[in-house]
Amino acid sequence: MSGDCIFCKITRGEIPCKKIYEDAEVLAFHDINPVAPVHFMLVPKQHIESLLDVGDAHAALLGKLLLLAPKLAREQGLESGFRTVINSGRGGGQEVFHLHVHVIGGGNIPPMVKRS
Ligand code: AMP
Ligand code: ZN
Repeated sequence: MSGDCIFCKITRGEIPCKKIYEDAEVLAFHDINPVAPVHFMLVPKQHIESLLDVGDAHAALLGKLLLLAPKLAREQGLESGFRTVINSGRGGGQEVFHLHVHVIGGGNIPPMVKRS
C-alpha cells in the first residue's frame, strides 16, 4: 500500500473506477483514457512500482495477472485477440508507478513494428 498512489487509492475504493474483475489480490478496471474500443488494466492490490521491482516472490502473482488477461479479454469481447502492454520505469514510458498490465483490443490494432 502506498498513501498517494492513484492505483492504491483505486484498489482501496477511495477513487472510483469502472471495475470488471476483483479478487483478493487483483483488480481489473477500464482505462480512463482508452486508446482502443476495449482498454482495461490488471492491477495487483499489492503496491509494486513496476516490473523493475519484482522478484521470485512475485512469480505466482505475475502468473495470475497474465492468466487473467485472456479470460477477461474474452469476457470483454476480444475473442479474436488483444495486445498486452506493461510499461516499466521512466525509460519504458510508465506514468503511474504501480505495476499494471494494459489489455487493449477491438478496432484496428496495428502491428507494433511496421515492416517495409
Ligand atoms: P502507464 O503509462 O502504463 O503508466 O499507464 C497509466 C494508465 O493509467 C494510462 O493509460 C491512464 O489513462 C490510466 N489512468 C490514470 N488514472 C486513471 C484512473 N483514475 N482510472 C483509470 N485509468 C487511469
Ligand atoms: Zn500503488
